[in-house]
Amino acid sequence: MTNLQRMQQALRDAQSPAFLVSSLSSVQWLTGFTGSAGIAIVTPDAGVLVTDSRYTLQAAEQCADMPVRTFSNPTPQNDFLYEQMKRMGITRIGYDEENVTVAGLRRWSEKFEGIELFPMQDPVATLRMVKSAEEVRRIREACRLADACLEHLIPLIRPGVTEYDLLIEVEVFLRRQGSETAFPAIVVSGERSARPHGRPGQKRLEVGDFVTFDIGARFEEYCSDITRTVVVGEASERHREIYAQVLKAQTAALDALKPGANGRDVDALARRILDEKGLAQFFGHGLGHGLGALVHDSGRLSPSSDQPIEPGQVWTVEPGVYLEGFGGVRIEDDALVTEAGVEILTHFTRELLVV
Ligand code: ZN
Ligand code: ZN
Repeated sequence: MTNLQRMQQALRDAQSPAFLVSSLSSVQWLTGFTGSAGIAIVTPDAGVLVTDSRYTLQAAEQCADMPVRTFSNPTPQNDFLYEQMKRMGITRIGYDEENVTVAGLRRWSEKFEGIELFPMQDPVATLRMVKSAEEVRRIREACRLADACLEHLIPLIRPGVTEYDLLIEVEVFLRRQGSETAFPAIVVSGERSARPHGRPGQKRLEVGDFVTFDIGARFEEYCSDITRTVVVGEASERHREIYAQVLKAQTAALDALKPGANGRDVDALARRILDEKGLAQFFGHGLGHGLGALVHDSGRLSPSSDQPIEPGQVWTVEPGVYLEGFGGVRIEDDALVTEAGVEILTHFTRELLVV
């Protein structure tokens, strides 16, 4: 089944007459089109990709499963969209309640005379969680590139090097491999490593620093996302104890991530293990997220996520402990859910490296 056919089946199941796919990542999943502007109109029997004349050639090349219609000046986009929907005989259509702005909805309501708009959850958000073999191939390659990038970084870690120097290394390395960073890389050291999403700065690495790297590569539009924490020069008992507990939590969570499990329970397990050493209170974020064409793809492993785990999903598993005034540890890997459990797609060592 093509992604378009999967979407059309979902519309039939929901008894929805039509849907306006407006989030670009959903448009890409549905059509293969990677341009910066485009909307797909999908009914249970038809689909049309609408974009503008900047993308006439590219869209025709990338979008195999449905016709592409492009508009150009002086035709306004909404006039053109309206015309396409009329041609398709649409009288009711759902819009993406998570993606359409209040102003955008007002403009559509004014323009689309005779077409009833109603809010709906984008069916792609759920469908995209289960990856095709081709999507897994791309994620796997993105993971291989991220592993290689970490291998490249390790020999460069020494006292005196700045976080920013290492950030540049990540970017240049991935570019040289024909890839790019999937998101702005995080390199934080010493006390700054207690900031889960800190920005790399001019801080120089010092002996006794934790250094956390959170990096991802993008390969043919698909992402990887891996985090490792190392210690510079010499690790104290405290370093080792915190690291070991985060690793224990991550290992247990990866073991528990399998068909039939629930995202909330896997998250709770990691927290329980951190709490053996009183560390759960320093783990503020969720355990993981879906991974795909978006770094933070659909789905969360978190206390508020009633998320069934199914084969074909790809998850990050990334417990962390962040101690203000000391530093932080996060260990993150990417895992494909299989019939039996998970296959971990990132392979860089998870043992504590002292470099
Ligand atoms: Zn990450
Ligand atoms: Zn992540």
